[in-house]
Amino acid sequence: MRQKIFSFLLIFAFVTGGAAQQKRASGGGAAEARLRASVSYLASDKLDGRRTGTEGARAAASYIASQFARLGLKPPGGKSKTGYMQSFPYVSGVELGKTNAVTLTRRAPAVEGEPLGGGITTLDLRLGDDWTPLGFSSNEKLYTLPLSFVGYGITAGDLNYDDYAGATLQDRIALVLEGTPDGDNPHGDFARYTDVRWKAVAARDHGAKALVIIAAEDNFRDDRLSKLSYDNAAGDAGLPVIVISRQAAAQVLGVSGVPQLAELEKRVASAAVTRRSATNSGGSATYPIMDAVNKASFLEQSRLTLATSIVRKDAPADNVIGILEGSDPQLKKEFIVIGAHYDHLGRGGEGSLAARAGEVHHGADDNASGVAGVLELARLFKSGKLKTRRSLLFITFAGEEEGLLGSNYYVNHPVVPLADTVAMVNMDMIGRLKDEKLIIGGVGTSSGWRDLLTMAARSTEQKFATTFNEDGYGPSDHSSFYSKQVPVLFFWTGTHEDYHKPSDTADKINYEGEAQIISLISNVVTLIDQTRERPAYAVAKSESQGRTMGFKVYLGTIPNYADSSDGLKLDGVRDDSPAAQAGLKGGDVIVKLAGRDVHNVYDYTYALGEMKAGVEYEVELMRGTERVKLKITPAARK
Ligand SMILES: [Zn+2]
Repeated sequence: MRQKIFSFLLIFAFVTGGAAQQKRASGGGAAEARLRASVSYLASDKLDGRRTGTEGARAAASYIASQFARLGLKPPGGKSKTGYMQSFPYVSGVELGKTNAVTLTRRAPAVEGEPLGGGITTLDLRLGDDWTPLGFSSNEKLYTLPLSFVGYGITAGDLNYDDYAGATLQDRIALVLEGTPDGDNPHGDFARYTDVRWKAVAARDHGAKALVIIAAEDNFRDDRLSKLSYDNAAGDAGLPVIVISRQAAAQVLGVSGVPQLAELEKRVASAAVTRRSATNSGGSATYPIMDAVNKASFLEQSRLTLATSIVRKDAPADNVIGILEGSDPQLKKEFIVIGAHYDHLGRGGEGSLAARAGEVHHGADDNASGVAGVLELARLFKSGKLKTRRSLLFITFAGEEEGLLGSNYYVNHPVVPLADTVAMVNMDMIGRLKDEKLIIGGVGTSSGWRDLLTMAARSTEQKFATTFNEDGYGPSDHSSFYSKQVPVLFFWTGTHEDYHKPSDTADKINYEGEAQIISLISNVVTLIDQTRERPAYAVAKSESQGRTMGFKVYLGTIPNYADSSDGLKLDGVRDDSPAAQAGLKGGDVIVKLAGRDVHNVYDYTYALGEMKAGVEYEVELMRGTERVKLKITPAARK
């Protein structure tokens, strides 16, 4: 399950059913043993956390394919084992290219008798020791540009705070501090601005040619920004972004050393806080400390020449697909998709909630449990006891943790027509059943789902305390199908303290509970199949998204997180939302919003943070090859 958006769930919940503590009938033991075997293998150290693009993920995919083969599912891509694989493009990481260089030149101030100054000094910064480009930096060469120091480099409309106020960055390089005026406080007002992505957007927005960030750690190699990383969902920054060591920064700023830099930093932080409270009470505070730094002849005389080169590494990534043909000559042309993602977080990094990277993130609940569910359902339906008239398409996705990449690829490259796909059932984290509490999402995506679920529950021996969630969008792969108007159902046993940590291990799975959930899902699938009419697609009531980002406005767009490199692509818009009223549609690519260029989801979110409810803004988008301008008026977030 994806971390970034998962807290949006569970806002409007409707509780049905009662928790009955029934003992299971005998015969479930075999299913439990099979679930345990699959989860134990997938969540073992050997598979190394199954990060998409790694050896561990490939081993998981090949395990699933061989299980599909053993069960006799049909590979959509031909007879061999690779016939079960659907490859999609994936960037597994970034590395430094050949041309990375930073040179600082400085003309010494004029002295008496030497009107041209004391000559030019040159300092080459050493790559890796003094500086490094960030993984999302653009590749560019820039020559002898002047620098402006702009504090933390934060423009926060929602906080009435702007480090760039009064500064002109046109054809200059922005030099900023890492972090925010309230340090690393995760609950501070500035918490979301700790992400350097925002600093990059702000710098580009103010016309800067490049962004140079001063490391927070005295030892450069300890600084989190000194390690290259890449986010598949967000693309590149649109300008070079580099981090420099504090030792190098002291040289650039002309302070005598690292302790003096820390002193300067303290003064900037306290000035920032004072300035913010002044502007918030209506006054216009100046920023004397920043002026002082910028007017110091030292920085004024400095010029930076830089070349950045980041190489993106492509890695194999596969969805694994097996088909079980239906028994009815007509209905077998229709498909019910049963899916779960098999990738996880590898050894931490992006998406991990562990204190430090390096340990295997086992992902037993997230989502070996769902994969075991897919295999068990395939076995149940293949064994003949529960033969379906419609065909079943079993699919396990990769790239989910990085932004639903695999399912997004599938719905844009389906192996059977989406028009014939009557429903999608997704399982993500179904291994921690506690007090019989089960969450079912997507309940509003077909008008018949509530009745069908009630009926399925009635014919299932175990009773659950079920929470229904209307929305078809959510933090897992069913979202991709719902965006293509396929009715979806999403099964989930909720979050827990081991979520996205190495401690999500196989021994903590409630296999008996999972077997009960599988039994319920098999009844659900059977009921979908027994209805002659396919489930009618409905637009579900939306959950309140964006609340956790602290936005005050609401547009009702459904961004496509997997495909937003040149503009922000929309999977859809919510009915009756400001976006719908403005005339936006699924497939549109937003390139400008409220006067800001939008290259990726960060730019978009940034613009959103600046907008006010009830005010009309211009939105520019690409619709196919056509550039369209529309007016949009955000609503207040309730
Ligand atoms: Zn997850």
